[in-house]
Amino acid sequence: LAGPSPSAATEPEIKALRILGVLGELYLVAEGTSGLVLVDQHAAHERILFEQLLKTAQSGDGLQQQLLLPVTVDLSPEDAALLGRHVEHFQRLGFSVEPFGGNTFLVTAVPPQFPQENLAGLLQDILDEVRQSPGAVSRPEDVRIAQAACKHAVRGSDSLTDAEIRQLLSDLAKTEMPYTCPHGRPVMISIPFRELEKRFGRDR
Ligand SMILES: [Zn+2]
Repeated sequence: LAGPSPSAATEPEIKALRILGVLGELYLVAEGTSGLVLVDQHAAHERILFEQLLKTAQSGDGLQQQLLLPVTVDLSPEDAALLGRHVEHFQRLGFSVEPFGGNTFLVTAVPPQFPQENLAGLLQDILDEVRQSPGAVSRPEDVRIAQAACKHAVRGSDSLTDAEIRQLLSDLAKTEMPYTCPHGRPVMISIPFRELEKRFGRDR
């Protein structure tokens, strides 16, 4: 994982951000202590969900959202075998998944903060990602599956309410690595006042 980039906001700065608006239904525009800060909502969500998944796996606290209606997922024989091999890891991350005969699995619970819509499609996407993710051997299974899960569980352009934006930033400030998403993209871009002054020719 990449370390904090020199241009990224610091953690106290995240807490102090004053939200000015949302750009293109995706980027939060905020004033920080040292200038303008843009936050990629999607990347921020991924980071929060990723750390939540791994926390569940590491603490083994079994935090889950029970589904009101369990969902059955029909898979190809290959995907059923793949999920069968990884079922324990999915369970550690907070998914209650069990074989349901043939190539069908039953999902009865998902991790906290995990979306419940289109679970079958989501699970399929996660399996596709796990199958295709390169460098598989170098990373623990839990991390690989969590990386795949948050990539597909978070959508790009949700329009958030003010309360949801505050919650997002508060959750982000609590993460261990708020500067990048689990796949290495930046969560925040910061443009310091001194850069703005330079760009506006105020330093001459
Ligand atoms: Zn990402």
